[in-house]
Formats: sequence, C-alpha cells, structure tokens
Amino acid sequence: MKQKGLIFLFLILAASFAFLLLRPDPKSDTEWFKKIDSSVSAATIQEYQHDLSSSPHRAGTEANRKVGDQILKLLSKYGLKTTTAEYSFDFPEPQDAQLQLTFPSEINFNLHERQLSEDESTKVSKNELPYFAFSPDADIQTKVIYANTGSAEDYAYLKSRGLDVSNCIALVRARGICRGMKIVAAEKEGVAGLLIYPELKDQGFRKVEFPYGPHLNPWVSQRGSLLKYFLYPGDPTEPDAQNLSTLPKIPAMPISQDVASVLLKNILGEAVPESWQGWLPEGYHTGPGPAIVKMVYRGTKQRRTIRNIFAWLNTKTDDKHFVVAGNHYDAWVYGAADPISGTTVMLETAKVLSNITHKGWTPRRKILFTFWDGEEYGMFGSTAWVKKNLPLLENAVAYINVDTAYRARDFSPYLSPGLYTSLDRALNGLQDPDSGRYFSEIRPEYQNPGFSSDVVPFIRFAGIPVIDAGFGRTYSVYHSLYDDEMWLEKFGDPDAKFRVALSKIISRYLYRISNDVLLPYDFTEIQPYASKALNALEKKGNIQHSNGEVESLRQELDSFHAIAVQLQKEIETKKQLSPESRVAANKFLLDAIKAFNGSNGNVLMEASGTSGCAGEALSDLSDAFTANNREQIIAAANNLKRSLTSSGQFLEKVIGILKSK
Ligand SMILES: [Zn+2]
Repeated sequence: MKQKGLIFLFLILAASFAFLLLRPDPKSDTEWFKKIDSSVSAATIQEYQHDLSSSPHRAGTEANRKVGDQILKLLSKYGLKTTTAEYSFDFPEPQDAQLQLTFPSEINFNLHERQLSEDESTKVSKNELPYFAFSPDADIQTKVIYANTGSAEDYAYLKSRGLDVSNCIALVRARGICRGMKIVAAEKEGVAGLLIYPELKDQGFRKVEFPYGPHLNPWVSQRGSLLKYFLYPGDPTEPDAQNLSTLPKIPAMPISQDVASVLLKNILGEAVPESWQGWLPEGYHTGPGPAIVKMVYRGTKQRRTIRNIFAWLNTKTDDKHFVVAGNHYDAWVYGAADPISGTTVMLETAKVLSNITHKGWTPRRKILFTFWDGEEYGMFGSTAWVKKNLPLLENAVAYINVDTAYRARDFSPYLSPGLYTSLDRALNGLQDPDSGRYFSEIRPEYQNPGFSSDVVPFIRFAGIPVIDAGFGRTYSVYHSLYDDEMWLEKFGDPDAKFRVALSKIISRYLYRISNDVLLPYDFTEIQPYASKALNALEKKGNIQHSNGEVESLRQELDSFHAIAVQLQKEIETKKQLSPESRVAANKFLLDAIKAFNGSNGNVLMEASGTSGCAGEALSDLSDAFTANNREQIIAAANNLKRSLTSSGQFLEKVIGILKSK
C-alpha cells in the first residue's frame, strides 16, 4: 500500500515535469519583469546614442558602414552570435538643385538648411543638400499653384474653381497624405513638379524654435524617398515593383518655410478655403501665378552595398518558432531621432534580454534581433532580406519594430489586431515617463501600423503580425539636418527616460512572446476590429450597393468570433499541456493568424488606397466601396470570408487539442 502510494506520487511528479503549465506563473513573471526594468540603463542608451549619431550616415556609405561596425561590436559584447547580409543597389544622389523665382522678381533660393552657430553639428550643412531620392531630373519653368496637401481631393477642389493645375508647379504642405501619394495625385493631374514644405500650422502650435527649443524653425527641409513603396517596397527595378510603377514620373524638391513664404507672397488669385490656410504671414491664395519658378534638378546613381545585421538570442531551444525585433540604422543626415533613438533602444533591449538569460531565464523561442540598412530609400534592406528568407520566416511568429523611439512625449503604439492583449500584458505595471500614470490607464487606442517603415515586408510578404512602437507621431526636425544629438539630448529626451521606457516595453514584450507556452494571439480582437471598419464604411454611404455582401460578411465574422471566444475559454480552463500538444497547437495558431494573408497582402489591414502610407482596416473592401464597383466588393468580401473560414478551422483544431486529455 505504502509502496503503491509512492509509485503514484512518482507518476504525478513525472507527469508534471513533462507537462507544461499553460499559464505562466505570475510571481515568476513579475520577478523577471523587475529584473528587466532594473537592467535598462539610460546611461548606456545615451552612450550608444552619441556613438551612432555623431556623423551623417546615409545607407551604404562608409559612414554607415562604421555605424554598422559599432552595432556588431556591441552585439558581440552582449554575447550574441551575429551574422550579416549584404545587398547592392543603385542609390540616387543629388548633383545639382536650383530653385529661382523668375517672375515677378528674380530671387535665387538657397536650398541648404542654415548652419547654426549654437549647434556645431550643423556645420555640415553645405555637404547635405536636401533632396528627394528618386526624383527624376528637372529643368522646368512655369507658374506656381498652391495645392494644400497635394491630395486628389485638393486638386478636385482647384478644378472645381475652374483652375487648371496641369503644367504648373504645385506648392504643397508636407503633412497629410504621404510623399509617394502626393506624387500619385500630381501625376494624375499633369502637374509639372512638386515643392513640399513643412507648414507651421501643421505643428499645431508656435513655440520656441530650434536651436532654442525643439520646435520648427524656418530652415527645416524634410528629405525623403519619392518611391511609392506602399505599392511595393524596396528596389524599384525589381520586376514586381516595375509592374506597379513605384518610381515617380515627375520631379519634386523639399523646401523650407523660408522659401515657401516667398513663393506664397507671390501666389495670388483666389483666397483658399479656411482649412487650407496655414500660419505664414504672407497669406494663402490658389494661384496659379503670377509667381513663375525655375526648378532645376540633376541626380546621379551610386552603386552602394548595404548591410543588414542580425543577432540571435538563445540558439539552444528546439522550438522552431522565433520572434523578430528590429530597427534600421541608416539615416538621412545624423538621424539622432530617426532612426538612432530606436536603434539604441533595440541594442539596449538585446543587452537586457541577453543579460537575463545569464541570470537563469531560458526563453522557449529564439529571438532574432535585426538592424536594417537602406530603410530611408524605401525599406531596401528589410525587403531584400525578407523576400530571400521566406522559408525561414515561415516559423516567425511576429515582427516588433521601432524606427524612431522619440518624436514627442505621447506613447504611440501601432499594431496588428491579434496582438493587442499581449501588448497590454507587457505594459502591465509600467508607468508613462511623462505623466507618471500607468500605461494600462492611459494608453491610447491601438492604431494600424503605417506602411512606411520596415514592418511593410513583414506584413506584405511574410504575413505575420507586427508591432511598431515609439513615443510621438510627428516632430519638427524630421528628416532634416537638425535631427541631431543636440535636438534629442537637449530638448527631446534629455534623460533618455522615453527611450528607457520603450526599451522596457519591448524587452517585456519579447520576454512574453518568446516565453508563453501558447503563442499569445488573441483572435477575439478580430471581429470587433473588422466590425468597426464595416461600420465606418457604412457611414461613408454607398454601402447599400453591396446587395447583402456586408450582411453576410458580418455573419461570417460572428461565427468566427464564436470560435475565438470558445478558444479563449479553453485556454483559460486548461491547466497544462503535453509538449507534443503544445507543438501542434502552436503550429495551428500560427496557421490561423497567417490565414489572413491573401495573395494581395493582408485582408484585415493593408496600405490605404487614399493616403498610401497609413494602414487601413479592410482596405481592399474600402477601395472597392470608394470605386463603387460591385464585382470588386464581392471579390474583397469573399477574400475576407475565405480567410475567416480558414482561420476558424485552424482555431477549431487548437480547441480539439486543448479539449483532449
Ligand atoms: Zn526611420
């Protein structure tokens, strides 16, 4: 009897070793979160920040090679095994840019940003001509028209006023739709060229300007890529990109408010609508003219090699699933905020997680840290790598991106539906450095990721959910000479408290997603997400043409939701799982999230057909309703229904596994 009891006890013990507790032990989690939080160091972040943003470092240049070498050195120092992947592309460089007002008076504009005696870094101004990458060459002289943000609606308004925008140079604000979409709209209207300036009003306030404060000064000129990368990211000479014509057909130049003011003074005609008016004292009229401008641009191509950097955490596990976390390291000029504030956060995160593995933490899944090159031209590095490594990425469960850690003080999380609950868990107990309140109380509504950073190839080609997080949405010195160490360390994030907070968030999130027994997707987020988008479409008005498509889509969403709710219940009641069941369940969970990836990208969320770079819920369906095209509506609705059915079937398999003994 006694012996029997002992054997029984032994059996129970053996079983409990083989079986995995489904829910993490909250006490041990809190302990590890404490260790993570106390390991993140502001001093280290600021030290990297100084090292990595001390010289201008465009993609593929010698200077960026050096930045990459420093990243490699740091990663090795943390005991991580590093690898690299190199790719060569033709990168556009400016040779000559001139802008002149030729009528009613003659003025030669200085296109360089002003060198500031208060900021030593700005002495490179003369070498850093602001330009738009991939702008075609230009030698044009024509009237200027003011076209607000340069969207299709803006041109429609001008035409409704009887104004002919064709063959004009359009002066437009930087804000609103993204650069590539401004090009799309201008091409359609036969506009000859674009001049894009940062408008003071779009900052929302007048406050102390850089170098005396962090805010917009009259000389900021915002560089960028003109590629329509939301259509297809990466190299525009690739066949798929060529098919979608991602290269711009008309030239464009970035200009400062200083230059824009002179132009506005000489653009007369009708006063613009209230919403088009900015805060420059010269006033806003539509034109065209009388201002005539001569715009000359000549660029050249440089064959350059870019280098992506990788570091694996925990290569010991036999779990084939892994998480990817990354940031780019190429910049337009110094890029203290974009991207180095994010690069340093990612480096610190790699350090912290590597440290805790030495303190006894063994992540169930591997984490791949990535440092991308060539992002600014249109996600060249990440796109090339993702497309070459799709077989490897079949086992990737999510991609966590930062890009710019600090723009302003508000926490700004952009993420795929399905990851909301898991991000909330990582935020649990963390305080916002600005207000001191808990993120759990004040976090903003989660937004769709944008299609203008390294998340794009992961959504589009790898079909995995993403998180893109940082503080702030916009900032005054974006893509300008003044995005430098002085701006970030003196005015932006002086004690690195926002970068520290972000590293804690990313580290906690990676800890969670690499450790959870079951992949932490929450499928009950899908139906509310899609329903909200359907409601918004319904408000747009022409949904009645759908002849019941929307109704049947809603029913399909409800059926899917019922399965998702049941799965959550099973997960909550199930206490433990055998290793075999865990492997099988996770495979089906990943299949279920990838079921939303169609041949046209993700069916839940894709690049917006109207704004380009913003992610939009049910964008295919939205485009179909905008086009008011019945066949397109049916096709988009069917795609989504198919994904819901397929995803639901995978979830039912997981439920089956959880229900079995
Ligand atoms: Zn960036």
